[in-house]
Amino acid sequence: MISLFSPEGIRRLDQIVQPGLLCVFDFDGTLSAIVPEPDRAHLTPEVYESLVKLSALTPVAILTGRSLEDIRPRLRFEPAYLVGNHGLEGVPGCEESSAQYLTLCRRWEHAIRTALHDDGFDPRVWVENKGYSLSVHYRDTPDPHQTEGRLEHLFSQVAPEARVIAGKSVFSLLPPNAADKGSALQQLMRISAAPCVIYVGDDVTDEDVFRLQRPDLLSIRIEPATHSAAACYLPQWQDVIVLLDDLISRLSNADPHQLRNTASNVGG
Ligand SMILES: [Mg+2]
Repeated sequence: MISLFSPEGIRRLDQIVQPGLLCVFDFDGTLSAIVPEPDRAHLTPEVYESLVKLSALTPVAILTGRSLEDIRPRLRFEPAYLVGNHGLEGVPGCEESSAQYLTLCRRWEHAIRTALHDDGFDPRVWVENKGYSLSVHYRDTPDPHQTEGRLEHLFSQVAPEARVIAGKSVFSLLPPNAADKGSALQQLMRISAAPCVIYVGDDVTDEDVFRLQRPDLLSIRIEPATHSAAACYLPQWQDVIVLLDDLISRLSNADPHQLRNTASNVGG
């Protein structure tokens, strides 16, 4: 994994950026800061303005774990593609399985809420039913590590068929054999007929995209991580603004050296 601000990282950008580039972004921790209360996550004015500019130049997609209902008002602009629930909601051409997922998630939600109560879990563990997937949050519990282990055991008892993904103080429970961010991105590539794609994400479910290793994909992780399959990283989420502005410059044939200049300023 190399820094996008390194000479090699910039060379990768030079190779991938061309007219029609599909620009795909995760939301939390990528376009917005991770906040203690997920409900307060939002775009800063700078990120918002750059996204609006970029989407006037090339197709932009948002691929998030949030439901579409939740993400829409946070964006305040209409991207070319909006995919929610880690790839389960909003992918054109993949609507069939939805009813099944809704039923399954309602069943899991009921079983988990009951078990949390019966097993005396801390009330700060809370369940969010996103319709097509379930999130179980435990950020504010006094002993997150112990809670994590207890929750994993609980899931294996009451939702054994779920695909459980551990995120940042949150577990995502996804229907088995269902779409993920990787398959969603592949479908977006098919329907958009984009020549190449950039994907930026920060968390475990983004690895489904990072692992694709397509030659027409440049995958970028927020913050370096040894376990990640992403090709490049940005040192911190705020650097996404540098990337957005660099893409705008390149795609509008303005100064192509903006990232290079910024990189030397931040000592990248
Ligand atoms: Mg994220």
